Amino acid sequence: MLPRLSCCLTFDVDGMSAWIGTLKTRNPSMISRGEFTITGTRRVLQLLRRHDLQASFFVPGHTICAYPDLIREIADAGHEIGHHGWVHENPADFEREGERIVLERGLAAMERIGVRPVGYRSPAWDFSPNTVPLLNEYCFLYDSSCMGDDFNPYYLRAGDEFSSDEPYRFGALTPLVELPVSWGLDDYPAFETIPGINRGYSPPSAVEEIWEGDFAYAHEHCPQGIFTLTMHPEFIGRGHRIAMLERLIERFSRRDGVRFSSLAAYADKWRTANPLAEWREANPLRAGSGAIETLPRQEGASRRQTA
Ligand SMILES: [Zn+2]
Repeated sequence: MLPRLSCCLTFDVDGMSAWIGTLKTRNPSMISRGEFTITGTRRVLQLLRRHDLQASFFVPGHTICAYPDLIREIADAGHEIGHHGWVHENPADFEREGERIVLERGLAAMERIGVRPVGYRSPAWDFSPNTVPLLNEYCFLYDSSCMGDDFNPYYLRAGDEFSSDEPYRFGALTPLVELPVSWGLDDYPAFETIPGINRGYSPPSAVEEIWEGDFAYAHEHCPQGIFTLTMHPEFIGRGHRIAMLERLIERFSRRDGVRFSSLAAYADKWRTANPLAEWREANPLRAGSGAIETLPRQEGASRRQTA
């Protein structure tokens, strides 16, 4: 049974990967911002321990190779570890087989620390047309990168076709659960200053107001929904920001019927409560072509981590 509202705290432990793979910088000072993830992650883990909460961490393979012991600490504390690319690359920069190699490199790094993920979050929330078919092929339970709803999960389609010349053509539903995200509930645009790219530098009090306002709306209007915050230890882990997060956790916990959960645990329960065929009937505008796509599955791929 799903609670009235599930609150999922998620942390993308990008480390140096995002600066190298997304921003493609060669500047060691800029890359050192990623190194702050050591301090930030420890602060986040202490905060979660103080409040006895389980959370979800998404980690690129490149970051796992840089800091295997730090990522093991996260897993050993009982938190979920999800896939976040190899070096925070954009999946759309690759053809299908190139994207497969990136996915497998990430999986191989996770395997080295004993993790087989059930969840995926694409770097910078970018997808290619091949992303959903590949995630289905590798038996992922859920993705958390899209923005087609706010506090209600949905099933993702594969094979949508679009251009500016023709009407939008919907593809077929797949069993991949989407746990939606939003830039407004992400710490990066608000906090991190990158000259010419992102202004950042918002007061935590402003972010606190936005996040709490969205939480209150979800609590009142979206029964059995999910409120997902996307944060990065290197951004939220700075002193005054993590103090703001702790204030929010304390206030969220006091609300009626709120449970903190990992994304994997929530996705598992949501899928059981919303079988694909029934959900399709109840959500015709999202059903696309109406068919349910049967996609190839990797031999031996299984869901080993549901914490
Ligand atoms: Zn990231």
